[in-house]
Amino acid sequence: MKCLIADDSRFHRNLIRDCTSTKLQNAQVIEAADGTEALRIISEERPDLIFLDNEMPGLSGVQVAAKIRCLDERYIPYILMVTSLNNAGEALEGGCDDFIRKPFNPDEMRARITVALRIIAVYQKMRRQTEEMERLARIDSLTGLYNRRMIDERLREAVEEARRKKRELTLCMCDVDGFKKINDTYGHIKGDEILVALASCLRSCLRLGDFLARYGGDEFFIIFYETGGDVAPLIERRLHSVAASIKLPDGAPLSVSLGLWSGLPKESDEPEALLKKADNALYENKGQRTRLNGGASSRQLTPSRLSGAEGSTQN
Ligand SMILES: [Mg+2]
Repeated sequence: MKCLIADDSRFHRNLIRDCTSTKLQNAQVIEAADGTEALRIISEERPDLIFLDNEMPGLSGVQVAAKIRCLDERYIPYILMVTSLNNAGEALEGGCDDFIRKPFNPDEMRARITVALRIIAVYQKMRRQTEEMERLARIDSLTGLYNRRMIDERLREAVEEARRKKRELTLCMCDVDGFKKINDTYGHIKGDEILVALASCLRSCLRLGDFLARYGGDEFFIIFYETGGDVAPLIERRLHSVAASIKLPDGAPLSVSLGLWSGLPKESDEPEALLKKADNALYENKGQRTRLNGGASSRQLTPSRLSGAEGSTQN
């Protein structure tokens, strides 16, 4: 809990500080002697509770309050104006939550601090809940990986970064071969277990900064940053091998199909179009694997190779 006392009178700052001492024992109390300094501290420190004098050098309390309310819609401090002016209407309309006239009665000030703390506790609880909801909205509940929602955001950032740093990146779509058959044969609970196991295996073979998400169903999406060179075959071998470490109930290794796009994104490349290229490569590889296997389950197939130009170059 942080608290700011903004008043150009040291006498009043001390009076307010005395009132806060019993109520805010663990709070960090900061002081400011003018409006401009107060606003700077507020921008940097984001105090939860602000005592604001109105008559100060620099900016008036009402001006500071108005600016605070424009800072960031997520930042909602409790602002208590403490002033000798009789401008309660202006202060409250202008962004303050409460108003007390100088000279104030310390008991009344302490009571108003109690009210402030009650409201701040509600704000904090709401903020925690909002953050938790936002976190959950980005996470796939089955695998704990990021979900589809995060892919667009990270892909856009990754493409911009690759262009800026002139470093190639590799996008990979991965899906489980014959997943419908696995579900039909062993049930959806087993199918889910396999997705969870695959998510964990994929995660274990990525570098720390790489991005892994569940695209949907049995499809996963990976961004390998700063890949450079011809890493696609290496990535393919590694992913096929970790997938094969997962065994189906009949003992057969799990098989996945991959589609990769590697390269340096051009200015004209839309991130979504690059993902589509990786997805097209996946379908191409998948088709080859199914054809090679006579249309039956493709589980026994050896890892497919990148489909030449489409998968490994920047076209
Ligand atoms: Mg003053």
